[in-house]
Amino acid sequence: MKISKVATTAAIAVALALTATACGGSAKDAASDAGASGGTAKDKIVVGIKYDQPGLGLKTPDGKYTGFDVDVATYVAKELGYQPDQIEFKQAVSAERENLIANGDVKLVVATYTINDKRKAKVDFAGPYFLAHQDLLVRADDTSITKAEDLNKKKLCSVAGSTSAQNVKTKLAPDADLREYPGYSECLTGLENKAVDALTTDGSILAGYAAQEKNKGKFKLAGLKLSDEPYGIGLKKGDKDLQTKVNAALKKMVEDGSWQKAMDANLGPADYKAEPAPQITEGS
Ligand code: GLU
Repeated sequence: MKISKVATTAAIAVALALTATACGGSAKDAASDAGASGGTAKDKIVVGIKYDQPGLGLKTPDGKYTGFDVDVATYVAKELGYQPDQIEFKQAVSAERENLIANGDVKLVVATYTINDKRKAKVDFAGPYFLAHQDLLVRADDTSITKAEDLNKKKLCSVAGSTSAQNVKTKLAPDADLREYPGYSECLTGLENKAVDALTTDGSILAGYAAQEKNKGKFKLAGLKLSDEPYGIGLKKGDKDLQTKVNAALKKMVEDGSWQKAMDANLGPADYKAEPAPQITEGS
């Protein structure tokens, strides 16, 4: 009787100890789960965007991000399971985009990024989600440049690593005095202070500059369609799963009207006549 009482007490003690251990274990798991969903490295997505393209990808002086590409990135991230506060934007200048993706510094690049075969040797794309065309921006009082051939012998600015610079060299105006700057804002400054005579890149980007309050009356677009520039979302080569998910997100963005809304809000003020959303062709 006595023995059995001791045994019972011991059994209860063991049971309590086990329960305590179990509780301790689950409490620890719960704490680490909370930590993870509270924003550890595992729970954010890094997206490369442009920082100097008003209407498309812009970092404002107060540290906010605006533009059509930012809205597309935010929509796609949400479909992938990331809320806006889980997105970390990183600057992706034109010449660095493939490297940023290949090195794993960013998961996605949403940065006026034209899909082409040269780039597809290094990265994959989802999309396209936008169709732009190369155009020219000149000073408002300039009447000497109205077409691509007029650029020959002129000082022309374009950005290193962009399709625009490549197109000038290979077909549009091989005799232009091409200056390749690292970013678009540098080209714009050059155009304003007459270091260059024209700036060439996608009309979508140029329209954003021309419409900026501080640039009103200073510049004009030639209104040309010198090339087709289908924008895609860059991602790691071979990541089929991510490509499929991003394509699905883009399709949904168009179908639920968010694409048009973002377009009107971001490029409407610049009076840019955008093409309708293109068919998604990557990955199929
Ligand atoms: N869309 C072109 C490109 O991807 C020009 C704009 C840019 O440099 O981002 O090269």
